[in-house]
Amino acid sequence: MRIWVNGELRAADDARVSVLDHGLTVGDGIFETVRTTDGRPFALTRHLDRLARSARGLGLPAPDLDEVRRACAAVIEANPAALGRLRITYTGGISPLGSDRGTAGPGLVVALGEVKRRPDTTAVITVPWTRNERGALAGLKTTSYAENVVALARAHERGATEALFANTVGQLCEGTGSNVFVVLDGQLHTPPVASGCLAGITRALAVEWTGAQETELPFDVLERAEEIFLTSTLRDIQSVHRVDGRELPGGPGPVTTKAMSVFGERAGDDLDP
Ligand code: PLP
Repeated sequence: MRIWVNGELRAADDARVSVLDHGLTVGDGIFETVRTTDGRPFALTRHLDRLARSARGLGLPAPDLDEVRRACAAVIEANPAALGRLRITYTGGISPLGSDRGTAGPGLVVALGEVKRRPDTTAVITVPWTRNERGALAGLKTTSYAENVVALARAHERGATEALFANTVGQLCEGTGSNVFVVLDGQLHTPPVASGCLAGITRALAVEWTGAQETELPFDVLERAEEIFLTSTLRDIQSVHRVDGRELPGGPGPVTTKAMSVFGERAGDDLDP
């Protein structure tokens, strides 16, 4: 694998960031995961817009988005993959111990790994930890993801592939790496961004293309929703067949199936929707 690190493409073994990078020492960094299909990135402009928003939210210098685009193109060309996961990491940069912030400019790392298509349906669990919808990091895609790592490990222990969080006021929020949609009385809903969830790019496209309502939902809606699905860059739309001990009927229900097919048609038309 060849990785872009601060202006240069390097073999993975030679790619280096400083051990004093503030992203490494305190998680002062942001990231994006972009899907590539046969070397073409999906929704790259939306991802770069969100990278810029996350940088503003964290108080990092604005990333040079032309450079990020060039880095992505170079990494894609150097790492052929049928289905790829492009990872853009932008960190606080080198920060001598004791200083608040990077003093030698931010760090940019872009890597690409081949991935497999996710199954169309999966099991999820709920976790007792909450997303803080009023926290400084709410809605930012930062590298401070350890809470998600812990929740996802809990999901794996229980034979599931995703864990869902409530926010501090008991509303449905999101998964460790996905947004969540539920069907109630045949209508499709997803929590609003004010719930503390990430403004997922797949979520936004799904709302636009299916007309789903953004609705504040109590967490226990998961006990009665007729259908549930997850959205994320590497999943597109993935139906949920089990939440904790509750089995949902059969495969993807009618609303989920329709959303999957609309998404497949629309996303196929335009690689930068
Ligand atoms: N929520 C969280 C916490 C995420 O990390 C992600 C993506 O990784 C998502 C939601 C889904 O966002 P997107 O559709 O932009 O991949």
